[in-house]
Amino acid sequence: MSEILESNEEGIKRASEIIRAGGIVAFPTETVYGLGANGLNDTAVIKIFETKGRPADNPLILHIAKKTDLDKIAKSYPAYVKLLIDKFWPGPLSIIVEAKSEIPSAVTAGLKTVAVRMPSHKIARDFIEACGVPIAAPSANISGRPSPTCFDDVCFDLSPKDVPIIKGKPTDIGIESTVVLCTSYPPVILRPGKITREDIARVVGDCNLDIKPKKKPLSPGQKYGHYMAKKPTVLFDMSPKDTDEYIDKHNLNGIYILSKENKPRENSIVLGDYDDADVASRDFFHALRVADTMDGDMIFVQAYSKDGIGLALFERMTKSAKHRILEDKNEDWIW
Ligand code: AMP
Ligand code: MG
Repeated sequence: MSEILESNEEGIKRASEIIRAGGIVAFPTETVYGLGANGLNDTAVIKIFETKGRPADNPLILHIAKKTDLDKIAKSYPAYVKLLIDKFWPGPLSIIVEAKSEIPSAVTAGLKTVAVRMPSHKIARDFIEACGVPIAAPSANISGRPSPTCFDDVCFDLSPKDVPIIKGKPTDIGIESTVVLCTSYPPVILRPGKITREDIARVVGDCNLDIKPKKKPLSPGQKYGHYMAKKPTVLFDMSPKDTDEYIDKHNLNGIYILSKENKPRENSIVLGDYDDADVASRDFFHALRVADTMDGDMIFVQAYSKDGIGLALFERMTKSAKHRILEDKNEDWIW
């Protein structure tokens, strides 16, 4: 059973003691719940990998409480990085810079670079500040599962592992931070998130996107299975109207994760307006976990508008469906 820590002074003090003693603690952030350890302690960081079943070659993000702490972690970075952190920190942007040699290789997975983020979530920052060290943290799920966006979802994955958990509210954003490589110009987004390519280009002049699946991605984490419900999931990358027609034509029975514009169905979870990718992003991972508890063998998901955070949501949906995507209403149903 997990030790449950309230998000007050006493709970945060207890959490920081666990971290300083080399332990791990799950905590809320504005993106998803994280599973943290002292980012300067190799042995503590390895516990994160063991607990999650995370492949050792998938590096972690170091979370800091103050912008100036970046200089304790980064060996060097281009001048434009200052512009990015002035604009987007605290917030859902992880920047990859050259790492100082003292950063443990468990954090960087042996790379010369390290990802750093300053969260905007008050409890997360108080917790990091109380620890007095950078906190290495991936999402607080068992590897491959949807990231946890509320306390109950963290408990579901980590209670059996006896991991202490700081209890907070459901997260605001609901998908992980944008990860941007900042070792040369222009910066390159390796994982999309709430902060978009356009947002970054507006501040530094230009920004590239490198998120297409490939065998050896620049971001090691991009090659693994992610965000998957236990039930097989299929994504409909077409208008709600076409999705409805397809489901009816092929008599597809299961659990449906839909938008308000789709035809109402029994056994469905409705995330919101098709054009409101913010709301859908906030609720999608939890919906996958709920779908696993409902009657039905398969999950059918309506894709959303790809504007703004919508691109990141679409990337998460694609991975949750293991790239089983239907784009044309005239395609055959083959399973
Ligand atoms: P997670 O901790 O699950 O939110 O994932 C962190 C993401 O950042 C993964 O996709 C990692 O591969 C990526 N990442 C972290 N550090 C680096 C790095 N130094 N270079 C490239 N990608 C990184
Ligand atoms: Mg993760």
